[in-house]
Amino acid sequence: MKQNCDQMASKLLSVSEAKEKILDNVTIIDGQEKLAIRQSLNRVLDTDVQSTINVPPYDNSAMDGYAINSADLPTEGETRLKLAGKSFAGKPFEGKLKKGEAIRIMTGAVIPEGADTIIMQEHAQAIDDTVVISAGHTKGDHVRYIGEDMKVGDTVLRTGKLITPAELGLLASLGIPEIQVKRRCRVAFFSTGDELRSVGETLEEGQIYDSNRYTLYGMLTRQNIELIDMGVIADDPAAVKEAFLTASNIADAVITSGGVSVGEADYVKDTLEELGQVSFWRVAMKPGKPLAIGSINKAAFFGVPGNPVSAMATFYQFVQPALQKMMGLRETFRLMLKVPCITALRKQPGRLEYQRGILSYNKNGDMVVNSTGVQGSHILTSMSHANCFIILPAENAGVTSGDLVEVQPFTDVI
Ligand code: AMP
Ligand code: MG
Repeated sequence: MKQNCDQMASKLLSVSEAKEKILDNVTIIDGQEKLAIRQSLNRVLDTDVQSTINVPPYDNSAMDGYAINSADLPTEGETRLKLAGKSFAGKPFEGKLKKGEAIRIMTGAVIPEGADTIIMQEHAQAIDDTVVISAGHTKGDHVRYIGEDMKVGDTVLRTGKLITPAELGLLASLGIPEIQVKRRCRVAFFSTGDELRSVGETLEEGQIYDSNRYTLYGMLTRQNIELIDMGVIADDPAAVKEAFLTASNIADAVITSGGVSVGEADYVKDTLEELGQVSFWRVAMKPGKPLAIGSINKAAFFGVPGNPVSAMATFYQFVQPALQKMMGLRETFRLMLKVPCITALRKQPGRLEYQRGILSYNKNGDMVVNSTGVQGSHILTSMSHANCFIILPAENAGVTSGDLVEVQPFTDVI
């Protein structure tokens, strides 16, 4: 009875309202650590980084060729310059370039004093100690200037930046061996359901294997999160309560799957209400309508639905962005495309749908999407066959072949 009243009283939130609320519900975690830069890959920077050197540290050549002074460039015809020395990367020319001279130079080598222009070797002719250059070059050609990439005092990275291979290289090019990053976010997760068995156990009548703990493990690991796997918890209010308390004491966030509907064995929402705050729990989306979001003590709480596709879809759409905010990540980018759908899609107006799709190129080289087929929230193979979500807005009443649809590729591999 109580559940029926709740059900009627609670408004179905739109996906965008839910996203906004879920982000408002979480804050950046405290704590940082200093790591050797290689160890900081996929972590979130917790400091601004100022350049203490110029990169490049000196004017240098962008080409293999000859360093000359632009005053010697012919306005027409050719000129002959005397080859006066060599400047190689790591072995600069010691002297000064004089009028009428050229220096053999390699990519990355210091531009000798007196030179201001590089002639590519393909555009010059070397005969013994003479270099022949024709007209048509411009002062400054192929010179890379000091500090062009980073200047002393520049803020080159800011707090909240995800450290990717480019940042590792950038830090190394500044000579920085260690860097301060956010500590990893700690997440405790478990599945609820009397029917669930773990891999390695034998299934009895009416039992299934717990797959959500494995998809969650995978999705969380890709976010570089510290995991606490609490196993399967029975559909028993006392057991659920105890698990919630333990999890919320040891983790920044708690993720459960299952038990969020209005069935008689669904204790997640009521227990969350008893121990903490429920921010919302029903979203106008498919798959994944019941979704308990809130907090217990200091821990954020995400109760995703039990159906395997719903668990993954709600994780990607709601939990992942919230965890990214908690980790201190400042910018996230989710690729969205508009492409023609080459299969008809069935849909009732009312809820926003995340259908599973396969992006591919047709024989003209244009990108198209088609459905993975049956769209039930229990069909986990649909997530495996898919390489994208096809996002159909709440008001959409179905798609005919050729219609443009919005697509979110699975690009969450860092
Ligand atoms: P629930 O959200 O608990 O009502 O579960 C909805 C459906 O998802 C039921 O068919 C459950 O058996 C199934 N289910 C719940 N949890 C899991 C899990 N961890 N792995 C696989 N299926 C699950
Ligand atoms: Mg259940």
